[in-house]
Amino acid sequence: MNTAGVIPGPLAEDVTAYRRELRQFLRTEPELDTWRADPAESTEEILQSHARLLALLYSGGWNRYGWPPAMGGLGGSELHRAAFYEELSMADLPIPEQCMTLDTVGPAVVGFAPELAAQLLPGYLRGDEWWGQGFSEPEAGSDLAALRTRGTVDGDRMVINGQKIWTSQAATATRLLCLVRTGTPESRHRGLTIVLVDADCPGITIRPIALASGQRELAEVFFDDVNVPLDRVIGEINGGWAVAMYLMQWERAMYCYASTSRLMRSMQLLRDRMLADDIAGDAETSAFARIYVQLSTAKARGLQSIRRLAAGEKLGPEASVDKLLCGQADKAAYDLVAEVMEQASLVAAPADRRYAHDWSDQWWYSRAATIMGGSAEIQRGIIADHVLALPKD
Ligand SMILES: Cc1cc2nc3c(=O)[nH]c(=O)nc-3n(C[C@H](O)[C@H](O)[C@H](O)COP(=O)(O)OP(=O)(O)OC[C@H]3O[C@@H](n4cnc5c(N)ncnc54)[C@H](O)[C@@H]3O)c2cc1C
Repeated sequence: MNTAGVIPGPLAEDVTAYRRELRQFLRTEPELDTWRADPAESTEEILQSHARLLALLYSGGWNRYGWPPAMGGLGGSELHRAAFYEELSMADLPIPEQCMTLDTVGPAVVGFAPELAAQLLPGYLRGDEWWGQGFSEPEAGSDLAALRTRGTVDGDRMVINGQKIWTSQAATATRLLCLVRTGTPESRHRGLTIVLVDADCPGITIRPIALASGQRELAEVFFDDVNVPLDRVIGEINGGWAVAMYLMQWERAMYCYASTSRLMRSMQLLRDRMLADDIAGDAETSAFARIYVQLSTAKARGLQSIRRLAAGEKLGPEASVDKLLCGQADKAAYDLVAEVMEQASLVAAPADRRYAHDWSDQWWYSRAATIMGGSAEIQRGIIADHVLALPKD
């Protein structure tokens, strides 16, 4: 077990002091201007640039708060991570893309495979490596329990065959957290296992998928007799569904809070632009107010969920409300950007590049906000069935 930094940092017990000191650092560190005017354009360049930002933040300890000391962190809770994402956004800095996946998969690895987390998370926090989440398959997206990628246990190894699709950052990731079928084909959610696979294992082929923006953030991943040691299993064999459901709590709450924080700052910049250039009429001004309220609602809801996670509570199906609010606000906000900027989001000038992606990329990406991580229709179904207990018809 890696024992580096097993003592909590001095700000672990005080989120307000952490936020204050982080804000001061983000305001005064001259090196950070590199990322305010970041010319990185392709997915590969953006990930490399964000890795360098992580290394800088790690050296000051800033992104280590919110993670356990035994895993390279400095202690504290999800509230530290929420403050970190919010302060980066307010300082016109990107939230490193790597953090979005770490906050989705990291807590599950900490909870279900602490030795692996101790070994690998310090490198992740330093920006040395990042992972992809390989859950979806061509015929198993909304119906995830239908997935067919096979994991066959053979002695102390698992042999994986099959295909994943829509895996974010797979083309640049060093490892892939995969949900595979270890039970019978009919076993549904009872026969699934989560395993962490090195992306450079023999038998893995990764084919990037070009998005409408031209970015190559997503990929298809093919597994052909890929051999993985069993100590890479997260949790129990055939116990993957429980791990996946545990992971969803952070995917819904933390991911949404980080993206809403970033979006809130984008809206403030849009407001400045609207005022400075006098480019918005009454209709756009009222749309702005409506969307700002929508966004604030999503963010407030996210914070409530994060407080519950920080207090050790479990989020149940009600986390689908966070996901739904966040996805809807994301799309509405970028529709307004496109409208106000008179389609300028589709032909963005370099000066508008604030967060490494330009407005255009952000607009295109926002189309996926109500699909990825479970579509809006699926979230509504969960809310209807499991939160409101509405009649099936
Ligand atoms: C930008 C982006 C990033 C992504 N990143 C990842 C990633 O990193 N890892 C990963 O594993 N996956 C990722 N995904 C995949 C994502 O989780 C799936 O796209 C999503 O779960 C939907 O699955 P699907 O695409 O197979 O659509 P389908 O499940 O085929 O759904 C098609 C349509 O039918 C609707 N539908 C399906 N079932 C129902 C139902 N029961 N009731 C009502 N409507 C229904 C859906 O809402 C949707 O509109 C990503 C997707 C996108 C767009």
